[in-house]
Amino acid sequence: MAAKLQIGDLVWAKMKSFPAWPGKIVESNPDIKKPKNVKNQHFIFFFGSENFAWIPFETVYPYIGNKEKFLLTTRIPRGFKEAIDAIEDAIKNMPEEAMADYQQRMSRPDPVPEELNNSVESADSDSPDKPKRKKRSRESDRGTEDGTPKKTPRLKSKSPPDSSGKKVRPVKSLTPSEKILKRAKMTASSSPSQNIFSSFSAKKSPGKIRERKLPELRVSESDLSYDPSLGAPGMPLSSGSLASEAGGTPSQVKSVIPTPMRIGFLGLGIMGQGMVMNLLRSGHEVTVWNRTAQKCRDFVKAGALKGNSPCEVVQQCDITFCCVADTTAVKDIVFTTNTGVLHGITAGKCFVEMSTIDEETVQDVAEAIQARGGVYLEAPVVGSRVPALEGQLTILASGDRKLFDDCFSCFEAIGKKSLYLGSDPGAATRMKLIINMVMGTVVASLAEGMAMAEKVGLDLEDVAEVLSLGSLRCPAIIHKSQAILNQKYDPHFPLQHQQKDLRLALQLGDKVEQPLYIAAAANELYKKARRLGYGESDISAVFRAASN
Ligand code: NAP
Repeated sequence: MAAKLQIGDLVWAKMKSFPAWPGKIVESNPDIKKPKNVKNQHFIFFFGSENFAWIPFETVYPYIGNKEKFLLTTRIPRGFKEAIDAIEDAIKNMPEEAMADYQQRMSRPDPVPEELNNSVESADSDSPDKPKRKKRSRESDRGTEDGTPKKTPRLKSKSPPDSSGKKVRPVKSLTPSEKILKRAKMTASSSPSQNIFSSFSAKKSPGKIRERKLPELRVSESDLSYDPSLGAPGMPLSSGSLASEAGGTPSQVKSVIPTPMRIGFLGLGIMGQGMVMNLLRSGHEVTVWNRTAQKCRDFVKAGALKGNSPCEVVQQCDITFCCVADTTAVKDIVFTTNTGVLHGITAGKCFVEMSTIDEETVQDVAEAIQARGGVYLEAPVVGSRVPALEGQLTILASGDRKLFDDCFSCFEAIGKKSLYLGSDPGAATRMKLIINMVMGTVVASLAEGMAMAEKVGLDLEDVAEVLSLGSLRCPAIIHKSQAILNQKYDPHFPLQHQQKDLRLALQLGDKVEQPLYIAAAANELYKKARRLGYGESDISAVFRAASN
């Protein structure tokens, strides 16, 4: 069917994680990277989102003649109605001859394959790829391949116009003395406080350099007692602990030379808050946006700028990071008409997706950003609330290599280690899902063990102690057993996110026919915990489901 279609035709086209969507076949933009098998793909303009993407022939269908098939009546995603209105307007405005030609060519519509159904969760029609074992370029040491030290991140020299045609402020290299002025003055306090904004104020210094009084990072004892990157409460850190590997304890400081690039950050949840504070503390210029706008207030007091929409943040910044709850949140932020990320993407704009989401959505986002000339990197993180506050996250990245390099000072500020897993968008997501699948099953097993201990009359304190003495003595087991023992489920890693990650890992397993017996069983336990109302509690509340 798609072979009959030609430039100018109105169509239904399906991106991997979206239902079939109204679009138009248009001339490809020479600036936009073509996929490998471009001969079998149409370049599509999507109505509503005004996004562009290369879509394989087999998932592109004439609009007229397939309307009944693809018109959604239930679970209508945001922007779908607007897209239908826009394509219907385009039909009304079509010259008669063009319509006659179109109808003649489409007079024999091909059958629509079953796999092109309208469920957002529907399986992709592509045959499942075997997991590829690739030689990976690992960049934890941030050196070049020949072993020479990495150059300081290159700065964009061009000043691309934004969507309104205005020139954006060019990114300027700092002189060494300016860099020294901007360098972070990090202080860490061991005094317990819940307030991560305490003792922070930002002042504009005369001249071009913004000198900041950097905020002190204050972490409460309760934060530390559940930090998987630290030893157990009252226990000395062992030489093999994650914290000592990272060289990070609350009293240790990092010195980061911030990039002069303007940084945007979308999402001020548990993770975003910690990451943004560390970017500010290390002297980065950060513009923030959050769906619930009042969460921006304290960050603005702490020196951040505020964007009114994801689009505005992207337009005002060189690199925009995003860390939000789930796939729905990412789609809303990226694809929403007029105010979404895509609307702000122009040539050279950089977008870094840090949320843990599914691979299909990651690829849709990457393609959409690239189709507008933007640069894409995915960078999900390992670590929870306290590692985020402490700048001790592990960053898993894949996508554009230069953008990974350009993120150097940001990753230094928020993390203890960043790994570049290759140019393939999806690689970091797969790694992240596997790591969280293991975490989820371990904590579910701990919950079951402690629930059974209670039933057979053992003292849970004894169980926690025995666990802390043997080979299971690791931060996750120690801290989560303490949480269960003390019935203290304030969220460090929200249980609903753990269940989402298990669900996504199971979908990934389906795709490659990998049996996941244990993860599937653990997922059921987390589902039960959500049903019992513990979705927003810490992952350790899965004990409630096990003991119920
Ligand atoms: P969180 O505390 O639950 O915060 C969620 C964030 O997403 C909030 O900023 C929320 O905005 C925003 N959001 C939700 N739905 C949205 C929508 N439809 N449109 C726009 N914004 C929306 O989550 P988190 O713990 O920071 O986690 C963020 C991501 O990092 C998740 O993908 C999670 O799996 C991953 N992660 C979390 C941890 C952890 O330990 N917490 C560790 C590693 C990775 P509002 O403030 O308006 O609700």
